[in-house]
Amino acid sequence: MLRNLVNPATGLAIEAIADATPGEVGAKVAAATKAAADWERALPSQRSLVLQRLADLVERHADELSRLEVEETGKPWAVMRDGELPFAVDNLRFFAAAARSLHGTAAGEFSTGYTSMLLRRPVGVVAAITPWNFPLVMAVWKAGAALAAGCTVVLKPSPMTPRSAIRLAELAVEAGLPDSAFSVVTGGPEVGEALLTADGVDMATFTGSSATGRRVMALAAERTLPVHLELGGKAPIVVFADADLDAAAAAAALAATYNSGQDCTAATRVYVESSAHDGLVEALAARMESIITGDPLDPATDIGPLISSEHRERVDGFVQRASAGGGRVVAGGRAPDGDGWFYRPTLVAGLTQDCELVQDEVFGPVLAIAPFDDERHAIALANDSRYALASSVWTSQVDRGLRVAHQIRAGVTWVNDHLPIASEMPHGGRRASGFGKDMGHDAVLGFTVGHHVMVKHSEPVARSGFRPA
Ligand code: NAD
Repeated sequence: MLRNLVNPATGLAIEAIADATPGEVGAKVAAATKAAADWERALPSQRSLVLQRLADLVERHADELSRLEVEETGKPWAVMRDGELPFAVDNLRFFAAAARSLHGTAAGEFSTGYTSMLLRRPVGVVAAITPWNFPLVMAVWKAGAALAAGCTVVLKPSPMTPRSAIRLAELAVEAGLPDSAFSVVTGGPEVGEALLTADGVDMATFTGSSATGRRVMALAAERTLPVHLELGGKAPIVVFADADLDAAAAAAALAATYNSGQDCTAATRVYVESSAHDGLVEALAARMESIITGDPLDPATDIGPLISSEHRERVDGFVQRASAGGGRVVAGGRAPDGDGWFYRPTLVAGLTQDCELVQDEVFGPVLAIAPFDDERHAIALANDSRYALASSVWTSQVDRGLRVAHQIRAGVTWVNDHLPIASEMPHGGRRASGFGKDMGHDAVLGFTVGHHVMVKHSEPVARSGFRPA
Protein backbone atom coordinates (compact mmCIF):
# COMPACT_ATOMS: atom_id res chain seq x y z
CA MET A 1 0.00 0.00 0.00
CA LEU A 2 1.22 3.50 -0.91
CA ARG A 3 0.75 6.25 1.68
CA ASN A 4 0.91 9.95 0.95
CA LEU A 5 3.07 11.92 3.33
CA VAL A 6 1.43 15.27 4.01
CA ASN A 7 2.96 18.54 5.17
CA PRO A 8 0.79 19.57 8.15
CA ALA A 9 1.74 23.23 7.75
CA THR A 10 0.14 23.35 4.28
CA GLY A 11 -2.03 20.24 4.00
CA LEU A 12 -0.22 19.42 0.73
CA ALA A 13 1.16 16.01 -0.23
CA ILE A 14 4.97 15.59 -0.09
CA GLU A 15 5.57 12.13 -1.54
CA ALA A 16 4.18 8.61 -1.34
CA ILE A 17 5.91 5.83 0.60
CA ALA A 18 5.01 2.15 0.32
CA ASP A 19 4.16 0.04 3.37
CA ALA A 20 6.41 -2.95 3.94
CA THR A 21 4.76 -6.30 3.17
CA PRO A 22 4.77 -9.03 5.86
CA GLY A 23 7.37 -10.84 3.73
CA GLU A 24 9.65 -7.80 3.76
CA VAL A 25 9.30 -7.44 7.52
CA GLY A 26 10.24 -11.10 8.01
CA ALA A 27 13.21 -10.75 5.64
CA LYS A 28 14.56 -7.70 7.50
CA VAL A 29 14.27 -9.47 10.85
CA ALA A 30 16.01 -12.53 9.40
CA ALA A 31 18.81 -10.33 8.03
CA ALA A 32 19.12 -8.55 11.40
CA THR A 33 19.41 -11.97 13.07
CA LYS A 34 22.25 -12.89 10.73
CA ALA A 35 23.97 -9.53 11.25
CA ALA A 36 23.71 -9.93 15.03
CA ALA A 37 26.45 -12.56 15.10
CA ASP A 38 29.06 -10.11 13.70
CA TRP A 39 27.86 -7.03 15.52
CA GLU A 40 27.70 -8.78 18.89
CA ARG A 41 31.29 -9.94 18.47
CA ALA A 42 32.57 -6.49 17.43
CA LEU A 43 34.82 -4.98 20.09
CA PRO A 44 33.32 -2.16 22.12
CA SER A 45 35.90 0.15 20.54
CA GLN A 46 34.69 -0.87 17.06
CA ARG A 47 31.04 -0.34 17.92
CA SER A 48 31.93 3.00 19.44
CA LEU A 49 33.79 4.08 16.31
CA VAL A 50 30.82 3.29 14.06
CA LEU A 51 28.50 5.31 16.31
CA GLN A 52 30.97 8.21 16.38
CA ARG A 53 31.09 8.18 12.58
CA LEU A 54 27.30 8.02 12.44
CA ALA A 55 27.11 11.09 14.70
CA ASP A 56 29.52 12.91 12.36
CA LEU A 57 27.44 11.91 9.32
CA VAL A 58 24.19 13.08 10.91
CA GLU A 59 25.93 16.38 11.68
CA ARG A 60 27.14 16.63 8.08
CA HIS A 61 23.63 15.89 6.76
CA ALA A 62 21.97 18.23 9.25
CA ASP A 63 20.26 20.39 6.63
CA GLU A 64 18.93 17.42 4.67
CA LEU A 65 17.59 15.59 7.74
CA SER A 66 16.10 18.79 9.15
CA ARG A 67 14.32 19.49 5.87
CA LEU A 68 12.72 16.01 5.85
CA GLU A 69 11.52 16.42 9.39
CA VAL A 70 10.26 20.00 9.04
CA GLU A 71 8.25 18.96 5.95
CA GLU A 72 6.66 15.99 7.71
CA THR A 73 6.00 17.48 11.16
CA GLY A 74 5.72 21.22 10.46
CA LYS A 75 8.01 22.06 13.37
CA PRO A 76 9.92 25.33 12.97
CA TRP A 77 13.19 25.05 11.05
CA ALA A 78 15.28 26.61 13.85
CA VAL A 79 13.82 24.26 16.46
CA MET A 80 14.89 21.27 14.37
CA ARG A 81 18.13 22.49 12.81
CA ASP A 82 19.55 24.27 15.86
CA GLY A 83 17.92 22.21 18.61
CA GLU A 84 16.74 18.66 17.96
CA LEU A 85 19.28 17.85 15.26
CA PRO A 86 22.36 18.77 17.35
CA PHE A 87 20.76 16.96 20.28
CA ALA A 88 20.44 13.78 18.18
CA VAL A 89 24.15 14.12 17.30
CA ASP A 90 25.00 14.51 20.99
CA ASN A 91 22.87 11.45 21.85
CA LEU A 92 24.83 9.38 19.32
CA ARG A 93 28.15 10.64 20.74
CA PHE A 94 26.99 9.63 24.21
CA PHE A 95 25.98 6.16 22.98
CA ALA A 96 29.36 5.85 21.24
CA ALA A 97 31.08 6.51 24.56
CA ALA A 98 28.70 4.27 26.48
CA ALA A 99 29.52 1.34 24.16
CA ARG A 100 33.00 1.31 25.75
CA SER A 101 31.96 1.42 29.35
CA LEU A 102 29.56 -1.49 29.32
CA HIS A 103 30.74 -4.20 31.64
CA GLY A 104 29.51 -6.62 34.23
CA THR A 105 29.35 -5.58 37.84
CA ALA A 106 30.59 -8.61 39.72
CA ALA A 107 33.75 -10.63 39.62
CA GLY A 108 34.58 -12.50 42.77
CA GLU A 109 34.58 -15.73 44.71
CA PHE A 110 31.13 -16.28 46.14
CA SER A 111 31.54 -20.08 46.51
CA THR A 112 34.82 -21.61 47.60
CA GLY A 113 36.76 -22.85 44.60
CA TYR A 114 34.73 -20.89 42.07
CA THR A 115 35.16 -17.50 40.45
CA SER A 116 31.98 -15.86 39.26
CA MET A 117 31.67 -13.13 36.68
CA LEU A 118 28.60 -11.34 35.44
CA LEU A 119 28.85 -10.54 31.74
CA ARG A 120 26.49 -8.10 30.03
CA ARG A 121 25.36 -9.57 26.73
CA PRO A 122 23.32 -7.90 24.01
CA VAL A 123 19.72 -9.10 24.09
CA GLY A 124 19.74 -9.81 20.31
CA VAL A 125 17.40 -8.49 17.63
CA VAL A 126 15.36 -5.48 18.75
CA ALA A 127 12.01 -4.49 17.22
CA ALA A 128 11.69 -0.72 17.69
CA ILE A 129 8.51 1.29 17.07
CA THR A 130 8.45 5.09 17.22
CA PRO A 131 5.88 7.94 17.06
CA TRP A 132 5.64 11.03 14.85
CA ASN A 133 6.43 13.83 17.27
CA PHE A 134 10.26 13.61 17.34
CA PRO A 135 11.00 11.17 14.50
CA LEU A 136 14.79 11.54 14.24
CA VAL A 137 15.48 11.85 17.96
CA MET A 138 13.28 8.83 18.75
CA ALA A 139 15.03 6.72 16.08
CA VAL A 140 18.40 7.74 17.54
CA TRP A 141 17.32 6.92 21.10
CA LYS A 142 16.19 3.43 20.08
CA ALA A 143 18.82 2.49 17.50
CA GLY A 144 21.76 4.31 19.13
CA ALA A 145 21.33 2.64 22.52
CA ALA A 146 20.60 -0.82 21.10
CA LEU A 147 23.54 -0.73 18.67
CA ALA A 148 25.85 0.47 21.48
CA ALA A 149 24.80 -2.58 23.49
CA GLY A 150 25.65 -4.87 20.54
CA CYS A 151 22.07 -5.52 19.41
CA THR A 152 20.74 -5.26 15.89
CA VAL A 153 17.60 -3.26 15.18
CA VAL A 154 14.59 -3.26 12.87
CA LEU A 155 12.73 0.02 13.38
CA LYS A 156 9.24 1.00 12.34
CA PRO A 157 8.72 4.76 12.39
CA SER A 158 5.30 6.39 12.31
CA PRO A 159 3.74 6.15 8.83
CA MET A 160 3.37 9.94 8.93
CA THR A 161 7.08 10.66 9.48
CA PRO A 162 9.29 7.83 8.18
CA ARG A 163 11.96 9.55 6.09
CA SER A 164 14.51 10.68 8.70
CA ALA A 165 14.69 7.13 10.14
CA ILE A 166 15.15 5.67 6.63
CA ARG A 167 17.99 8.14 6.03
CA LEU A 168 19.53 7.42 9.45
CA ALA A 169 19.73 3.71 8.60
CA GLU A 170 21.41 4.52 5.27
CA LEU A 171 23.94 6.76 7.02
CA ALA A 172 24.63 3.96 9.54
CA VAL A 173 25.80 1.72 6.69
CA GLU A 174 27.99 4.56 5.41
CA ALA A 175 29.40 4.82 8.95
CA GLY A 176 30.53 1.17 8.73
CA LEU A 177 27.67 -0.68 10.41
CA PRO A 178 27.27 -4.19 8.94
CA ASP A 179 24.48 -4.39 6.36
CA SER A 180 21.09 -5.11 7.96
CA ALA A 181 22.30 -4.47 11.52
CA PHE A 182 19.92 -1.50 11.50
CA SER A 183 17.05 -1.39 9.02
CA VAL A 184 13.70 0.33 8.72
CA VAL A 185 10.26 -1.02 7.80
CA THR A 186 7.52 1.46 6.94
CA GLY A 187 3.80 1.28 7.58
CA GLY A 188 1.13 1.50 10.26
CA PRO A 189 -0.25 -0.77 13.00
CA GLU A 190 -0.34 -3.92 10.80
CA VAL A 191 3.34 -3.56 9.95
CA GLY A 192 4.09 -2.85 13.63
CA GLU A 193 2.33 -6.06 14.65
CA ALA A 194 4.07 -8.05 11.90
CA LEU A 195 7.39 -6.77 13.24
CA LEU A 196 6.60 -7.56 16.88
CA THR A 197 5.53 -11.11 16.03
CA ALA A 198 8.26 -11.90 13.48
CA ASP A 199 10.39 -14.95 14.23
CA GLY A 200 13.79 -13.91 15.48
CA VAL A 201 12.82 -10.78 17.42
CA ASP A 202 14.31 -10.90 20.94
CA MET A 203 13.00 -7.66 22.45
CA ALA A 204 10.54 -4.85 21.74
CA THR A 205 11.05 -1.17 22.46
CA PHE A 206 8.11 1.12 21.85
CA THR A 207 7.36 4.83 22.14
CA GLY A 208 3.82 5.99 21.55
CA SER A 209 0.44 6.22 23.22
CA SER A 210 -0.47 4.26 26.35
CA ALA A 211 -3.27 2.45 24.47
CA THR A 212 -0.91 1.17 21.77
CA GLY A 213 1.68 0.40 24.45
CA ARG A 214 -0.75 -1.99 26.11
CA ARG A 215 -1.33 -3.76 22.77
CA VAL A 216 2.44 -4.00 22.20
CA MET A 217 2.86 -5.46 25.69
CA ALA A 218 0.13 -8.04 25.05
CA LEU A 219 1.78 -9.15 21.80
CA ALA A 220 5.17 -9.29 23.52
CA ALA A 221 3.68 -11.35 26.36
CA GLU A 222 2.55 -14.05 23.92
CA ARG A 223 6.19 -14.53 22.92
CA THR A 224 7.80 -13.79 26.31
CA LEU A 225 9.61 -10.83 24.78
CA PRO A 226 11.09 -8.29 27.15
CA VAL A 227 9.51 -4.96 26.37
CA HIS A 228 10.40 -1.33 27.01
CA LEU A 229 7.53 1.18 26.86
CA GLU A 230 7.74 5.00 26.67
CA LEU A 231 4.12 6.12 26.71
CA GLY A 232 1.93 9.14 27.31
CA GLY A 233 2.30 11.86 29.90
CA LYS A 234 0.32 14.52 31.76
CA ALA A 235 3.01 16.62 33.42
CA PRO A 236 2.08 18.85 36.37
CA ILE A 237 3.80 22.16 37.15
CA VAL A 238 3.59 23.06 40.87
CA VAL A 239 4.17 26.77 41.49
CA PHE A 240 4.53 28.16 45.02
CA ALA A 241 3.87 31.84 45.68
CA ASP A 242 7.53 32.37 46.65
CA ALA A 243 8.72 31.33 43.16
CA ASP A 244 9.96 33.68 40.47
CA LEU A 245 6.49 33.92 38.91
CA ASP A 246 7.65 35.58 35.68
CA ALA A 247 10.13 32.77 35.09
CA ALA A 248 7.45 30.18 35.93
CA ALA A 249 5.00 31.76 33.47
CA ALA A 250 7.63 31.89 30.71
CA ALA A 251 8.71 28.29 31.26
CA ALA A 252 5.14 26.96 31.55
CA ALA A 253 4.12 28.69 28.30
CA LEU A 254 7.15 27.30 26.50
CA ALA A 255 6.80 23.80 27.98
CA ALA A 256 3.09 23.66 27.10
CA THR A 257 3.61 24.72 23.50
CA TYR A 258 7.01 23.35 22.46
CA ASN A 259 6.42 21.12 19.41
CA SER A 260 2.82 22.43 19.59
CA GLY A 261 2.39 20.55 22.87
CA GLN A 262 2.94 17.23 21.08
CA ASP A 263 5.51 16.19 23.64
CA CYS A 264 5.13 13.50 26.29
CA THR A 265 6.88 15.76 28.86
CA ALA A 266 4.85 18.87 27.92
CA ALA A 267 3.52 20.98 30.78
CA THR A 268 -0.21 20.29 30.91
CA ARG A 269 -1.50 21.08 34.43
CA VAL A 270 -0.37 24.14 36.39
CA TYR A 271 -1.13 24.03 40.13
CA VAL A 272 -0.41 27.37 41.74
CA GLU A 273 -0.60 28.47 45.39
CA SER A 274 -3.95 30.27 45.83
CA SER A 275 -2.48 33.69 46.65
CA ALA A 276 -0.57 33.72 43.33
CA HIS A 277 -3.34 32.16 41.18
CA ASP A 278 -4.92 35.21 39.56
CA GLY A 279 -1.57 36.88 38.83
CA LEU A 280 -0.19 33.73 37.22
CA VAL A 281 -3.34 33.23 35.10
CA GLU A 282 -2.91 36.76 33.77
CA ALA A 283 0.84 36.40 33.12
CA LEU A 284 0.41 33.00 31.47
CA ALA A 285 -2.48 34.13 29.30
CA ALA A 286 -0.37 37.03 28.01
CA ARG A 287 2.55 34.69 27.27
CA MET A 288 0.32 32.17 25.47
CA GLU A 289 -1.32 34.90 23.38
CA SER A 290 2.10 36.25 22.32
CA ILE A 291 3.27 32.90 20.86
CA ILE A 292 3.53 33.07 17.07
CA THR A 293 2.06 30.13 15.13
CA GLY A 294 2.77 29.95 11.43
CA ASP A 295 5.14 29.09 8.60
CA PRO A 296 7.85 26.72 9.94
CA LEU A 297 10.40 28.38 7.66
CA ASP A 298 9.74 31.89 8.99
CA PRO A 299 12.38 32.66 11.68
CA ALA A 300 9.73 34.57 13.67
CA THR A 301 7.57 31.44 14.11
CA ASP A 302 7.51 29.91 17.60
CA ILE A 303 5.38 26.83 16.96
CA GLY A 304 4.13 24.95 13.92
CA PRO A 305 0.89 23.04 13.30
CA LEU A 306 -0.50 19.89 14.87
CA ILE A 307 0.31 16.69 13.00
CA SER A 308 -3.03 16.17 11.19
CA SER A 309 -6.53 17.58 10.77
CA GLU A 310 -7.94 14.63 12.79
CA HIS A 311 -5.57 15.38 15.63
CA ARG A 312 -6.52 19.06 15.58
CA GLU A 313 -10.18 18.11 15.82
CA ARG A 314 -9.38 15.87 18.77
CA VAL A 315 -7.47 18.66 20.57
CA ASP A 316 -10.23 21.19 19.89
CA GLY A 317 -12.82 18.69 21.14
CA PHE A 318 -11.09 18.60 24.55
CA VAL A 319 -11.10 22.41 24.74
CA GLN A 320 -14.73 22.82 23.64
CA ARG A 321 -15.96 20.17 26.11
CA ALA A 322 -13.94 21.78 28.92
CA SER A 323 -15.45 25.16 28.07
CA ALA A 324 -18.98 23.73 27.95
CA GLY A 325 -18.31 22.02 31.30
CA GLY A 326 -17.52 25.27 33.12
CA GLY A 327 -13.86 25.89 32.20
CA ARG A 328 -12.81 29.47 31.46
CA VAL A 329 -10.76 29.69 28.24
CA VAL A 330 -8.47 32.65 28.99
CA ALA A 331 -6.20 32.31 25.94
CA GLY A 332 -6.53 30.63 22.54
CA GLY A 333 -9.19 27.95 22.30
CA ARG A 334 -9.44 28.02 18.53
CA ALA A 335 -7.72 27.27 15.24
CA PRO A 336 -6.39 30.36 13.42
CA ASP A 337 -7.62 31.14 9.89
CA GLY A 338 -5.66 29.82 6.93
CA ASP A 339 -4.11 26.60 5.66
CA GLY A 340 -2.45 23.95 7.79
CA TRP A 341 -3.52 22.36 11.04
CA PHE A 342 -2.50 25.09 13.46
CA TYR A 343 -4.05 25.59 16.88
CA ARG A 344 -3.67 28.63 19.09
CA PRO A 345 -1.90 28.14 22.45
CA THR A 346 -4.70 27.68 24.95
CA LEU A 347 -5.05 28.27 28.68
CA VAL A 348 -8.11 27.01 30.56
CA ALA A 349 -8.83 28.02 34.17
CA GLY A 350 -11.53 26.93 36.59
CA LEU A 351 -11.54 23.19 35.84
CA THR A 352 -12.04 20.56 38.49
CA GLN A 353 -9.44 17.83 38.98
CA ASP A 354 -11.71 15.11 37.59
CA CYS A 355 -12.29 16.92 34.26
CA GLU A 356 -11.03 14.98 31.20
CA LEU A 357 -8.82 17.91 30.13
CA VAL A 358 -7.00 17.58 33.46
CA GLN A 359 -6.84 13.77 33.43
CA ASP A 360 -6.36 12.74 29.78
CA GLU A 361 -3.45 13.35 27.44
CA VAL A 362 -4.51 16.07 24.96
CA PHE A 363 -1.18 16.23 23.06
CA GLY A 364 -1.71 19.81 21.90
CA PRO A 365 -0.76 23.33 23.09
CA VAL A 366 -3.33 23.29 25.89
CA LEU A 367 -2.67 24.09 29.54
CA ALA A 368 -5.06 23.86 32.51
CA ILE A 369 -4.50 25.96 35.64
CA ALA A 370 -5.93 25.51 39.15
CA PRO A 371 -5.13 26.74 42.67
CA PHE A 372 -3.85 24.74 45.66
CA ASP A 373 -3.97 25.47 49.40
CA ASP A 374 -0.72 24.08 50.78
CA GLU A 375 2.19 21.75 50.03
CA ARG A 376 0.28 18.56 50.80
CA HIS A 377 -2.59 19.61 48.59
CA ALA A 378 -0.18 20.47 45.74
CA ILE A 379 1.51 17.06 45.93
CA ALA A 380 -1.84 15.27 46.03
CA LEU A 381 -3.04 17.11 42.91
CA ALA A 382 0.23 16.51 41.05
CA ASN A 383 0.08 12.78 41.83
CA ASP A 384 -3.62 12.46 40.98
CA SER A 385 -2.99 11.10 37.48
CA ARG A 386 -2.63 7.69 35.91
CA TYR A 387 0.45 9.06 34.09
CA ALA A 388 3.81 9.61 35.80
CA LEU A 389 6.45 10.86 33.39
CA ALA A 390 7.51 14.51 33.82
CA SER A 391 6.83 17.18 36.45
CA SER A 392 8.26 20.40 37.85
CA VAL A 393 8.19 22.39 41.05
CA TRP A 394 8.75 26.14 41.32
CA THR A 395 9.90 27.71 44.58
CA SER A 396 12.70 29.91 45.92
CA GLN A 397 13.22 27.52 48.88
CA VAL A 398 15.68 24.79 48.06
CA ASP A 399 14.46 22.52 50.88
CA ARG A 400 10.88 22.77 49.69
CA GLY A 401 11.91 22.11 46.09
CA LEU A 402 13.72 18.96 47.10
CA ARG A 403 10.99 17.85 49.54
CA VAL A 404 8.26 18.15 46.91
CA ALA A 405 10.42 16.55 44.21
CA HIS A 406 10.89 13.54 46.52
CA GLN A 407 7.13 13.09 46.81
CA ILE A 408 6.06 13.57 43.19
CA ARG A 409 5.59 10.30 41.35
CA ALA A 410 7.37 10.77 38.02
CA GLY A 411 10.35 9.80 35.88
CA VAL A 412 11.74 13.35 36.04
CA THR A 413 11.12 16.36 38.26
CA TRP A 414 12.67 19.69 37.42
CA VAL A 415 13.09 22.34 40.09
CA ASN A 416 12.62 25.85 38.68
CA ASP A 417 12.55 24.69 35.06
CA HIS A 418 10.55 22.35 32.83
CA LEU A 419 11.72 20.45 29.73
CA PRO A 420 15.55 20.32 29.50
CA ILE A 421 17.02 16.85 29.04
CA ALA A 422 20.58 15.55 28.79
CA SER A 423 22.06 12.64 26.84
CA GLU A 424 23.65 11.31 30.05
CA MET A 425 20.38 11.11 32.00
CA PRO A 426 17.73 8.40 31.59
CA HIS A 427 14.30 9.39 30.28
CA GLY A 428 11.23 7.31 31.04
CA GLY A 429 8.12 7.08 33.17
CA ARG A 430 6.07 4.98 35.55
CA ARG A 431 2.46 3.76 35.69
CA ALA A 432 0.55 4.43 32.41
CA SER A 433 3.63 6.33 31.15
CA GLY A 434 5.45 3.00 30.79
CA PHE A 435 8.70 1.54 32.10
CA GLY A 436 12.32 1.26 31.06
CA LYS A 437 14.51 4.12 29.90
CA ASP A 438 15.64 5.92 26.78
CA MET A 439 18.98 7.79 26.97
CA GLY A 440 21.78 7.49 29.48
CA HIS A 441 23.56 4.31 30.55
CA ASP A 442 20.22 2.85 31.67
CA ALA A 443 19.04 2.82 28.04
CA VAL A 444 22.08 0.87 26.88
CA LEU A 445 21.85 -1.53 29.83
CA GLY A 446 18.18 -2.06 28.95
CA PHE A 447 19.28 -3.77 25.74
CA THR A 448 21.52 -6.25 27.60
CA VAL A 449 20.99 -9.29 29.75
CA GLY A 450 23.19 -10.39 32.62
CA HIS A 451 25.01 -13.66 32.01
CA HIS A 452 26.59 -15.34 35.01
CA VAL A 453 29.69 -17.37 34.15
CA MET A 454 31.01 -19.44 37.08
CA VAL A 455 34.45 -21.02 36.72
CA LYS A 456 35.54 -23.89 38.95
CA HIS A 457 39.26 -23.56 39.52
CA SER A 458 39.95 -25.74 42.54
CA GLU A 459 38.33 -28.35 44.72
CA PRO A 460 36.19 -26.78 47.40
CA VAL A 461 38.26 -26.56 50.60
CA ALA A 462 37.49 -24.88 53.87
CA ARG A 463 38.92 -21.35 53.68
CA SER A 464 38.98 -19.80 57.09
CA GLY A 465 37.35 -20.69 60.31
CA PHE A 466 35.39 -17.42 60.27
CA ARG A 467 31.67 -17.74 61.00
CA PRO A 468 29.41 -14.72 61.47
CA ALA A 469 28.45 -14.36 65.12
P1 NAD B 1 0.67 5.74 18.55
O1 NAD B 1 0.62 4.87 19.74
O2 NAD B 1 -0.55 5.95 17.77
O3 NAD B 1 1.75 5.19 17.50
C1 NAD B 1 3.10 4.99 17.85
C2 NAD B 1 3.71 4.00 16.89
O4 NAD B 1 3.09 2.73 17.08
C3 NAD B 1 3.52 4.34 15.41
O5 NAD B 1 4.69 3.96 14.72
C4 NAD B 1 2.34 3.47 15.02
O6 NAD B 1 2.30 3.19 13.64
C5 NAD B 1 2.62 2.23 15.83
N1 NAD B 1 1.46 1.38 16.10
C6 NAD B 1 0.16 1.75 16.22
N2 NAD B 1 -0.61 0.68 16.51
C7 NAD B 1 0.23 -0.37 16.60
C8 NAD B 1 0.04 -1.76 16.89
N3 NAD B 1 -1.17 -2.27 17.14
N4 NAD B 1 1.13 -2.56 16.91
C9 NAD B 1 2.36 -2.07 16.68
N5 NAD B 1 2.60 -0.78 16.39
C10 NAD B 1 1.55 0.07 16.35
O7 NAD B 1 1.31 7.10 19.06
P2 NAD B 1 1.55 8.44 18.22
O8 NAD B 1 0.22 9.09 18.04
O9 NAD B 1 2.40 8.15 17.03
O10 NAD B 1 2.46 9.29 19.24
C11 NAD B 1 1.92 10.05 20.26
C12 NAD B 1 2.03 9.32 21.57
O11 NAD B 1 3.39 8.99 21.85
C13 NAD B 1 1.59 10.16 22.75
O12 NAD B 1 0.77 9.40 23.60
C14 NAD B 1 2.90 10.53 23.44
O13 NAD B 1 2.80 10.84 24.80
C15 NAD B 1 3.73 9.32 23.19
N6 NAD B 1 5.16 9.63 23.33
C16 NAD B 1 5.82 9.21 24.46
C17 NAD B 1 7.17 9.51 24.65
C18 NAD B 1 7.90 9.07 25.88
O14 NAD B 1 9.13 9.17 25.90
N7 NAD B 1 7.23 8.57 26.92
C19 NAD B 1 7.85 10.22 23.67
C20 NAD B 1 7.16 10.63 22.53
C21 NAD B 1 5.81 10.31 22.36
